[in-house]
Amino acid sequence: MLKPYHTEITTRALKAYFSPRALHTILAANLHQDRLRGQFGHNEYHFDANAFEASYAYMDEQHEIVGDTLHQGDDPTPAWQALGRLTHTAQDFYAHSNYLRLWADSHPAGELPEPAQVGTLLPEFLHHPQLQSGNVYLWDWVSFIPGFYSLAYRRAPKDSHTHMNLDHPGRGPLFPYAIEAAIKRTIYEYEQIVGRLTPEEQSIFNDRRRLTADGG
Ligand SMILES: [Zn+2]
Repeated sequence: MLKPYHTEITTRALKAYFSPRALHTILAANLHQDRLRGQFGHNEYHFDANAFEASYAYMDEQHEIVGDTLHQGDDPTPAWQALGRLTHTAQDFYAHSNYLRLWADSHPAGELPEPAQVGTLLPEFLHHPQLQSGNVYLWDWVSFIPGFYSLAYRRAPKDSHTHMNLDHPGRGPLFPYAIEAAIKRTIYEYEQIVGRLTPEEQSIFNDRRRLTADGG
């Protein structure tokens, strides 16, 4: 996903739950995953190159950081940052794997539901024998050089990131489904976290002062 879409997805999914400063920290950590050093050698940050197991393990690690930070009652900043990192990975799943194409192919032609109806965690596609994600070849890097996209697209293999991604609207009619799936998945990951927190921990995580009964 390109940065404006990670921003849109994360904001639409989490804005209602967090204070502006918490959301700002979550977003910064989410976008930081796409820094150059986060791209080389970190398939697990982005569900690239069929790194499914490594990506799920990475998300689990970040979930643990969120829980440990909040259980210790420390400054919640590391929890917000871990949430940003793990939601980046979760969001990239829908843009970098063929999950949504497998889902779309299971519908009769012309009978796809609206994007908001997309199923995000359907076991038959999460564990589909043909589930794969784009490999990152030299041509994928060349595609980012201004003026070289067409050449790179022609040369890159069919299982490359260049051919498989749903990173931006130019990638066709499934792109809005990638956005909606990523929003739902981000909310799901958030709900997994708060389901394990005490009310007090959740209050610190959300960084919203709870109103008391007398309105004070
Ligand atoms: Zn990414």
